Amino acid sequence: MTALLEVVGVTKAFGPIKAVDNLSISVGGNEFFALLGPSGCGKTTLLRMIAGFEKPDQGRILLDGIDITDMKANKRPINLMFQSYALFPHMTVAGNVAYGLEMEGLRGAELSRRVDEALALVQLSSLSARKPAQLSGGQKQRVALARALVKRPKLLLLDEPLGALDKKLREQMQIELKRLQQETGIAFLVVTHDQEEALTMADRIALLRQGYIAQLGEPRALYERPDNRFVADFIGQMNFFEGQRGANGFEVPGLGLFDAANIAAIPLGTKAALAVRPERVVISETEQAGALPAEIDGLAYLGQDLILHLKLPGQAKPLVARMPAANPLTTHIARGSQVWCGWSAANSLILSE
Ligand code: ATP
Repeated sequence: MTALLEVVGVTKAFGPIKAVDNLSISVGGNEFFALLGPSGCGKTTLLRMIAGFEKPDQGRILLDGIDITDMKANKRPINLMFQSYALFPHMTVAGNVAYGLEMEGLRGAELSRRVDEALALVQLSSLSARKPAQLSGGQKQRVALARALVKRPKLLLLDEPLGALDKKLREQMQIELKRLQQETGIAFLVVTHDQEEALTMADRIALLRQGYIAQLGEPRALYERPDNRFVADFIGQMNFFEGQRGANGFEVPGLGLFDAANIAAIPLGTKAALAVRPERVVISETEQAGALPAEIDGLAYLGQDLILHLKLPGQAKPLVARMPAANPLTTHIARGSQVWCGWSAANSLILSE
């Protein structure tokens, strides 16, 4: 992969707070890249430095191999789509989309052609004469996208692009954004705090924590092989059992001795947590070798899946399990039922902070 954008050792502090701390990423020319992380981890600051609205204290930013660190924002072949959309209320949809190209001096048939093409891309051709006030939230979002895409930037930066939309529309637009990125071949760098959104859309994700990268990789790698507890906890749901690596396995006080996928790499004596995803917990009504006795403490029906809270011996926190609601077991278990639960060593990890 040849890099389009390279962020090299960038640092930005606001007084005593290091918003971005010696951070490096590289984004490919046709990549959908997500910057993910909790509030305040530095996502927006990093995006603003790439766009040119903020200057790094240290480090360089390169685009196509050219150092753009000191280049003015409006000279960079980069577009930023704001969360607020920032549409001009007095202009039509087509006028809003045309504006940036008109500023560049484009007129006539070529201008119309480019605007029509951008509106078609976001499926808004039929609404081109409307004003922003006559549009739904999702439609405004599409206009903002068309306006960003019409200039054919090499890189499009999107700050919480779906933040203003309701859940259903968000899910629809996630697929749409992915399609747009693939169709246009423009690299997308999206900031989001929503892990599901990042998993759905991105080719790769950088999960940020207090200005640095906690883990960078493909969605599946972050979900299935988190490097540490922070990543495991932020992406999806995870059960953790505190314990220590002993000579014969990982010891969880009161519960027993466990094997795990990465146990060979954990030094003896390490205090850490055994981590198991809820959907990896296997439940049975009859005793199984190596299984733990458990009592069902709570049940939640989610349509497709059932969430179970299981009380385990000597554990204050319940074990969360998730199973398809179609599983026949779900018809004859209830709160208070005694069951057996377990997981395979391959589906558990020992993780430190
Ligand atoms: P959110 O998801 O809430 O937008 P974020 O991950 O985008 O958060 P940033 O906005 O980049 O985080 O902020 C990172 C840190 O830098 C925070 O602690 C924030 O308070 C601080 N910060 C950001 N901009 C400024 C500023 N202009 N002046 C002072 N502190 C700032």
